[in-house]
Amino acid sequence: AAPVALVSGMSSMSKNHIIIKSGTVLEKLSRAKTFAFDKTGTLTRNQLVIDRIVPETGIDKDELQILAASVEQASSHIIATSLVKATPKAKLHSVTDLEEVTGQGVRGKVAGKVVCVGKLSFVAPDKKLENINSTAIYISIDNKFAGYITFADQIRPETPDTISSLRTQGAQHIMMLTGDNSKVAQKVAAIAGVDDVRSSLLPAEKIAAVKGIKAENRPVVMTGDGVNDAPSLMAADVGIAMGAKGATAASESADAVIMVNDLSKVSDAVAIAKHTMKVAN
Ligand code: ADP
Ligand code: MG
Repeated sequence: AAPVALVSGMSSMSKNHIIIKSGTVLEKLSRAKTFAFDKTGTLTRNQLVIDRIVPETGIDKDELQILAASVEQASSHIIATSLVKATPKAKLHSVTDLEEVTGQGVRGKVAGKVVCVGKLSFVAPDKKLENINSTAIYISIDNKFAGYITFADQIRPETPDTISSLRTQGAQHIMMLTGDNSKVAQKVAAIAGVDDVRSSLLPAEKIAAVKGIKAENRPVVMTGDGVNDAPSLMAADVGIAMGAKGATAASESADAVIMVNDLSKVSDAVAIAKHTMKVAN
C-alpha cells in the first residue's frame, strides 16, 4: 500500500485513541476474519463488584477480605485491583515473601500468616467444593482453606454492538479465551454474541489456542487487557491491548493499544483499517 495512505490511516487511528505500532497493522486488520477476546476486563467491565464473601467457620468475613486484599495489593490482575479498591485502605496489611503465578494467583506473608489467593487448584488442590458458578477467588491461610469471595462480572455495555459490528465488517469467527470457569464464560458469550468459547484456560493454553488458529493459515486478532494476556497478544497476528493506563505488560506486547476504556475501538480500528486499505490500493 502507498506509504502516504498508511501514515494517514495511522493518524486517523490516533485521533480515535488507537495507537498502532506500524503500518502493516492496518493491512492485517483490514483482512482479518478471526477475532479472539479475553473475557475478564476485556469483554466485561474493568472493575468487578464483590458479590459474596464466604468464610469457613471460625473466620470472620471482614478478616478474610482484608487478608485476601492485602496479598492482592501486589497483583495487577483485575480481580486483585477490584478487591483492593473495595477494601478500606487503612485496614490493609503490608505483605512480604510475595509470589505471583500468572493466571493462577498470589501468595504472600501478611500479619505473620501465609495467605494464598487465586484459583482453587492453586490455593487448595485437595479441597472439594460444589461448583461455584461465578467469577471467584479462593483463599487459604497458613495452608488451610479459609473460604472464597465471588464477584459479579458485568459485560461492557458496548460489547454486543462491537461484536456485531465486527461481523458486519466480515468477521467470521469470534472467540473468547478465558481463564475463568465455563458457566461465567458461557453467560457472557451469550450476551456478547461470541460463538466459540474456550474457558478454564491457563495462559499457556491461551497461546496454544491462538497458535492453533494461525496454524490453519487464518490470521488472528487478539484483544486483551491483562498481564496474563501479554503472551497471547504476542502470538497473535495483531495483538490489541486495552491499555487505558499506558505502559502495562499487555500494551508492551501489543501491536495496537486502545488508550480509552472502550471496547468499541476494536471495531472502529477495523473500519479505519479497511477504509485506509481501500484508499491505498
Ligand atoms: P481471564 O482470562 O478471564 O482474564 P485469568 O486467566 O486472568 O482470567 O484468571 C483466571 C482465574 O484465575 C480468575 O478467575 C481467578 O480465579 C484466578 N486468578 C488469576 N490471577 C489471580 C490473582 N492475582 N488473584 C486472584 N485470582 C487470580
Ligand atoms: Mg483479562
